[in-house]
Amino acid sequence: MIDIQSNIITIEKRISAAASRSNRSRNDIALIAVSKTQPAEAVVSAFRLGLRHFGENRVEEAQDKICRVAEILSASGEHEVPTWHMVGHIQSRKSDQAEELFDVIHSVDSIKLARRLGKRAEASDKVVPILLELNVSGENTKYGFRADGSLDNIDQWHQLRDWVTEILGIPGIDIQGLMTMAPIVENPESTRPVFTKLRRVRDRLAAEFPSMSLHHLSMGMTDDFEVAIEEGATMVRIGRAIFGPRRH
Ligand SMILES: *Cc1c(COP(=O)(O)O)cnc(C)c1O
Repeated sequence: MIDIQSNIITIEKRISAAASRSNRSRNDIALIAVSKTQPAEAVVSAFRLGLRHFGENRVEEAQDKICRVAEILSASGEHEVPTWHMVGHIQSRKSDQAEELFDVIHSVDSIKLARRLGKRAEASDKVVPILLELNVSGENTKYGFRADGSLDNIDQWHQLRDWVTEILGIPGIDIQGLMTMAPIVENPESTRPVFTKLRRVRDRLAAEFPSMSLHHLSMGMTDDFEVAIEEGATMVRIGRAIFGPRRH
C-alpha cells in the first residue's frame, strides 16, 4: 500500500531543504499534488493530511473527480475546499469546461485558448488566473509558446513579446506567471538550464511589461522539483512522489 502520509512528510522535508539551500522561504512555494489517474479517495486522504492544492491534466477525468471530492468533503463537514489547478493541454472544445472546473490554469499554450477562457470567464463575471506555458526545452513534442532560444534569439523574443502583448489585451484572464515542463532525463541536474531559462524569460518579461505581475513560476515534478525550487519555482507539481505510481 502507498503511504501518502509518509510520502508527504518526506516531500515536505525535501521542499524545505531546497528552499533553505536557496535562501527562500518554504511559504513561497506551493505544493500542488498532481492526482491524475488517482481516485477521488486519494485526493481526500491527501486533503485530510493538510494538502490544499491539487492538479489534473485532463478535463474529462477531472470533472468526475472534482465533483466526487467536493461531495465527500462536504458530507464530512469540511469547511475548506481544495484549489484545483489544470496542468495539462486543453483542447479547444474543452475550454469552457476547464474554465468552470479549475481555479488556476497553468497550461495556456495558445492565444486562441486564452481568448476562449477569457470569453467564458467574462460571461460569468469572473477573471480566471492563468499561467503561460512556455516551451523552453525546444522539444517538438511539448506544448507551449516557443521560448527555447529565449533571450539570445531576437526574433523569437520579439515574437514572444508580441504574443504576451496580445494576451494582455484579453479581458477575463489574469496572467500570474509562467509554467514549463522539463525534458525527462536521467539526472535531475540536467534540467537546471531549462528552469534557469524560464526564470530569465520571466524576469525579462516582467521588466518589459511592468503592469503585469508574473509572480509565479510553475516548474518541477517528482524527479526534479528540488532543482526547480533552487531556480525559483513558486509552484511544484508533484504526482508520483505523493500518490505512488500512476494507476493507468
Ligand atoms: C503528471 C504531471 C505532473 C506530475 O508528474 P510526476 O512525475 O508524477 O510528479 C506535473 N506536471 C504535469 C503537467 C503533469 O502532467
